[in-house]
Amino acid sequence: MDDCIFCKIARKEMGRLVYDDETVAAFDDLNPQAPTHVLIIPKKHIEKLAVMSPDDAQLMGHILEVANSIAAERSIATMGYRVVVNNGRAAGQSVDHVHFHLLGGRALGWPPG
Ligand code: AMP
Repeated sequence: MDDCIFCKIARKEMGRLVYDDETVAAFDDLNPQAPTHVLIIPKKHIEKLAVMSPDDAQLMGHILEVANSIAAERSIATMGYRVVVNNGRAAGQSVDHVHFHLLGGRALGWPPG
């Protein structure tokens, strides 16, 4: 998608990736909500979680593996961390390219707002 900001980041046209492989990219959130706040995305443009296809299941699982390895790299794995996907406007989704928030490095309240 030419005008998708997360596609541009995945294509390295802007920002800086902290993880990059054939199918997945990750970068620090511009407006971090915790000491570690990384966004992990499929390079393939998928608008939101709800429209993923069965063919995307392995890709989505791979994103969770990447989240685990970034958490280990950032030394937040032992303390605990959260992986969040906001799906749709009422859930807080503001960028229409599915992204997994990896949050950690502080105690996280529950339930979320
Ligand atoms: P959401 O509200 O779940 O759609 O999350 C979108 C996230 O993308 C927010 O946490 C924003 O701070 C973050 N964000 C928006 N633009 C950028 C950008 N150019 N680089 C990094 N993070 C961004």
